[in-house]
Amino acid sequence: MKALVLSEYKNLQLQDLPVPKPAADELLIRIKACGICGSDVHGFDGSTGRRIPPIVMGHEASGVVEAVGQDVSNFRVGDRVTFDSTVYCGDCFYCRRGQINLCDHREVIGVSTPLFRRMGAFAEYVTVPARIVYALPDKMPFAHAALIEAASVAVHGASLTPVEPGDTAVVIGAGMIGLLTLQAIREAGANRVFVVDLDETRLKMARDLGATETLNSKTQNVIAEVQKRTEGRGADVALECVGITDAIGLAVESVRKGGAVTLVGNVAPKIELPLQSVVSRQIRLQGSCASCGEYPEVIAMMADERIRVEPLVSAIAPLEDGASWFQRLYNHEPGLLKVVLQP
Ligand SMILES: [Zn+2]
Ligand SMILES: [Zn+2]
Repeated sequence: MKALVLSEYKNLQLQDLPVPKPAADELLIRIKACGICGSDVHGFDGSTGRRIPPIVMGHEASGVVEAVGQDVSNFRVGDRVTFDSTVYCGDCFYCRRGQINLCDHREVIGVSTPLFRRMGAFAEYVTVPARIVYALPDKMPFAHAALIEAASVAVHGASLTPVEPGDTAVVIGAGMIGLLTLQAIREAGANRVFVVDLDETRLKMARDLGATETLNSKTQNVIAEVQKRTEGRGADVALECVGITDAIGLAVESVRKGGAVTLVGNVAPKIELPLQSVVSRQIRLQGSCASCGEYPEVIAMMADERIRVEPLVSAIAPLEDGASWFQRLYNHEPGLLKVVLQP
């Protein structure tokens, strides 16, 4: 089969690999679409240490069941499917509590660390455990289904946020996850959603996707504007989708006393925190990791367009062109959100 292999850092090659065989609890999936994730682009140069070559990356995928392991009874050849990026063990302290995203033995499809290596979906075929696979509606295009993983991250972040109907939410960052989080927090009950970014094109997209107001942190005083628009109080909740000091500071300062900040962005290993503001205003900080069983809910939300992903797809390209698309994303070419590769 054709596979896009990270043979060494910054070097992606189209190679011919043997088609993997599904184990008893696995499915062999013929990949129809696989999105390039920011974490793939960061992993591509070795900076995260989570794509140790040789590795086939790709964990945001959809496709068709090609073969079924002998112990799997709930899927058939020909089923249209997607799968979670997290492979959980099902047996540890956290899995038994239903917190599969916190599994002690968590592995991720298309990721390699010193502890594990899981071949991913920038290939014609991949094998994954059937317990992480979900059926797709007939009409959902494969390229859209490749964004279910990212949408689940957003819906999980919103689910951890104590938002009440009628609340005002601030979303910091209008990248891929921010634009999905905006939609997720609105669906969770926020009736005003402010989105903050430095890029006007992304802010326009945020308005198209339902942001009630947008603020440009390059040209506007975000905290003053949020307060002005909330009777001087601040927003009820904020969701931070960038992951650096300045953005987290904006999230903290934009919520009211007793408000909550959900931290989804995960870039800087350490940040500076306005501690006194958090403690004296009794702000709740909540980390959010990946997703935890939200796939069926997200598939339903995308099927009836409560969450729209189509505007987030910048390009759909053949797998053969994968290396050049990686390079363009790596070079931060402006205007690119999700690039989906098709084997
Ligand atoms: Zn991802
Ligand atoms: Zn586990």
